[in-house]
Amino acid sequence: MGSIKLESLKKAFGSQIVIPDANLEIGDGEFVVFVGPSGCGKSTLLRLIAGLEEPTGGRIVIDGQDVTKTSPAQRKLSMVFQSYALYPHMTVYQNIAFPLKMAGEKADLIRKRVQEVATSLDLLPYLERRPRALSGGQRQRVAIGRAIIRQPTGFLFDEPLSNLDAALRVSMRMEISDLHKRLGSTMIYVTHDQVEAMTMADRIAVMNAGRIEQFATPLELYRRPANLFVAGFIGSPK
Ligand code: ADP
Ligand code: MG
Repeated sequence: MGSIKLESLKKAFGSQIVIPDANLEIGDGEFVVFVGPSGCGKSTLLRLIAGLEEPTGGRIVIDGQDVTKTSPAQRKLSMVFQSYALYPHMTVYQNIAFPLKMAGEKADLIRKRVQEVATSLDLLPYLERRPRALSGGQRQRVAIGRAIIRQPTGFLFDEPLSNLDAALRVSMRMEISDLHKRLGSTMIYVTHDQVEAMTMADRIAVMNAGRIEQFATPLELYRRPANLFVAGFIGSPK
């Protein structure tokens, strides 16, 4: 479960129309990347899907259900932000367990799930540490652990690697791709980095000034860019 459909989705901030008319169908389990220059509306589109912004018009349908008017919690999508903010005063265990605790789950179940998640992310040796005693990559894995603990149907990533150095970015990219293979959940990943888009995506939505110029596989985009903007952005010969 995890298909996401956008129907004539529109968002304006005052008189500024940021997303004029977005239409998109994302299949269950797909890894989709939204790519485009800074300010083109990637985060806004993602926040609309997450339920963090209210659309000015149109519909969002998840698994066949109209969720346009529902709260973020009801959408069962987990959002992973740029900064990966962890709670500094809590241990790794407490950080990962937090969403389950908030949901009122029983201590036994919480312990079992944290063990599973920490095992899959290689975090077992660090459960009693606080975030400041971890490396950047470990902190990011804790944030991912916190995002997957509730077994959401989909993940939304907003430029999660943009604060990292190049080497760490490459290894985290592989880790997120691995996570996708293992969980099989739908993922939407926002980036302004063409290389990241081309290497990670099943399909890419190329955005320009709030519009989706083309939605296609990396190979299709490269071979048959719909227009000059896509060709220029992807770096294909047109
Ligand atoms: P991107 O993530 O592609 O860099 P954003 O979605 O953040 O782009 O922003 C797209 C446009 O929407 C920008 O012009 C930005 O200034 C505007 N915008 C985003 N959020 C708000 C907001 N809360 N209020 C007013 N304008 C906003
Ligand atoms: Mg953004």
